[in-house]
Amino acid sequence: MKPRHRQLALLGMVVAGLAIAPALLGNFAVSLLNDVAIGALVALGLVLLTGVGGATSFGQAAFVGIAAYATAWLTTAHGMSPWLGLPFALALTGLAALAIGLLTLRLGGHFLPLSTIAWGLSIPLLFGNMDALGRHTGLSNIPPLRIGSWSLVDPRSIYYLIWILLGLACLFSHNVLQSRAGRAIRGLRGGSTLLGSVGADAFRVRLTLFVMAALLAGLAGWLYAHTNRFVSPSPFDVRASIEYLLMAVAGGLGQLSGALVGSALVLVLKNGLQDLLPQLTARSGQLEGVVFAVLFIVLLHEARGGLMGFVTRWTRGRFAPPAHDALQDAGIEPLARRALPAPGEPVLAVKGAVKRFGGLLAVNNVSFEVRAGEIVGLIGPNGAGKSTMFNLVTGTLAMNAGRVEFLGRDITQLRQPHIARLGMARTFQHVKLRPHMSLLDNVALGAHARGSAGLMAAGLRLDRREEAQIMAEARRQLARLGLAERAHELAGSLPLGTQRILEIARALAADPVLLVLDEPAAGLRRKEKQALSGLLRKLRDEGVTILIVEHDMAFVMKLVDRLVVMTFGSKLVEGTPAAVRANVEVQAAYLGSVIEPSEARQTAVAGNAMPLGKVA
Ligand code: ADP
Ligand code: MG
Repeated sequence: MKPRHRQLALLGMVVAGLAIAPALLGNFAVSLLNDVAIGALVALGLVLLTGVGGATSFGQAAFVGIAAYATAWLTTAHGMSPWLGLPFALALTGLAALAIGLLTLRLGGHFLPLSTIAWGLSIPLLFGNMDALGRHTGLSNIPPLRIGSWSLVDPRSIYYLIWILLGLACLFSHNVLQSRAGRAIRGLRGGSTLLGSVGADAFRVRLTLFVMAALLAGLAGWLYAHTNRFVSPSPFDVRASIEYLLMAVAGGLGQLSGALVGSALVLVLKNGLQDLLPQLTARSGQLEGVVFAVLFIVLLHEARGGLMGFVTRWTRGRFAPPAHDALQDAGIEPLARRALPAPGEPVLAVKGAVKRFGGLLAVNNVSFEVRAGEIVGLIGPNGAGKSTMFNLVTGTLAMNAGRVEFLGRDITQLRQPHIARLGMARTFQHVKLRPHMSLLDNVALGAHARGSAGLMAAGLRLDRREEAQIMAEARRQLARLGLAERAHELAGSLPLGTQRILEIARALAADPVLLVLDEPAAGLRRKEKQALSGLLRKLRDEGVTILIVEHDMAFVMKLVDRLVVMTFGSKLVEGTPAAVRANVEVQAAYLGSVIEPSEARQTAVAGNAMPLGKVA
């Protein structure tokens, strides 16, 4: 059986088991299964938010509470149908998440999780202090859901609705992860610079993810209210939030199935403890907390991947990823390409750029121009300010003074994602990849700005045409750089030199007007450097403009049309490779600094040593 078929067969068995469960189980077990599914909905949001997106929430139960109270209030105080309660509950939860997200998601480090405790504590307190919400006694007599005259009042009748909604939520989330929006979400962990460089706004991506996780909690809250038919503040407090987080961690933050497995694990264990502990001690409530705390700590120490983490480790290789198949791209219309400026037209103009880091003047009044179809090299000793210059040009850093124009437009004040969308793609001196994503996904991330499908379209699979185009483009760029065979390997498994090549593939997937490369040849072998050189020339012939920082003089002198030389933050000279090589000042600046002994030896062995001094 093919791995994919095996996976589907397993899924089919789980679904069939769940479908016949109510016929075989007693009322209590069916109720427990309902609770498991409701918990899994919340945990699913946490797997996405915390596991995939890297933002920990200790307040998720508050969103369950907002939705539960919203529908409870609408249906009890106003006698509305519970079905109207659903959009109302989701709208309130979504708005609350949007507001909280706007206020807190820019917080870095530990401050974000800390802030989640703050609202996780205060929202249930609010429920307990509002007269309209029944204060600490809560709201009771919430009507059950009805389909026509059929009332879903007992656990058995609402069972299918709950599980179908959970199934749909899982399917939606699964679709999202396999999409343009999902790649951006998976790219969140590891900083916002990479996302910015491909034209995605990390804050917006995180905010969207936060609202999506809250809406899953909201769906759970709506179901909770109409299943239990009674709401009070305590099931939505921080304790409950931590229990949801425990579910996600125990099941496994690495995969969606972890949400269901974790919810089942925690709730079954909790039930077992509630039966067992009273026989051992009178203070069973406190002991239960202790048992969960210990479980949490053991998990964090011994099994970060949770239960499903073990399972995936065991099945790795058994469920092999699909093999690369270029044929599948044959009928796909390629993504639209940008119009490139005519050769010689100004592409980039830097005017009097200044960047200070405290007292250090890293870039001091530097001006230069790059014209369409040129390869311009930026060289200079270590610490000259080249990478900083690139960060200013690409909008990764804001400059203190000066101006940058790109394609005739002032981009000085524009933010990084915006500049990327105008057609500037870059690589980084310190490679920025997502090691836990495949080569293919890393490169597809580069084409982010060439697509437009959002999270909703992805969840409903309305993005398939565009997604196929993006994947075809990613495969094309991988093949172009000789990495097609490894498309499904994880980027983190590549040697550093190859990771640099992968970054170039990602930059090319953006269909750039200007390609900005920071030391792309570092760590490459001689053959690889030659291939890279050939590729860059070919790109120039196709009309792509290239700005490159490179330390390997032999490589750079043969490649570029023009050079800009920097030392100590200032521009020294600018000119053709021959003119720069002959310049006395350049030789003085370079004496012993740019070609470090080890590098000099390397190039000498390679047989084309060209330290500047010797050639002149
Ligand atoms: P190059 O790429 O030419 O080797 P950089 O642009 O990386 O040089 O660095 C130029 C100078 O700015 C160096 O002295 C470096 O230490 C300093 N620098 C670079 N980035 C930062 C930063 N984020 N904060 C403080 N100093 C920095
Ligand atoms: Mg540098």
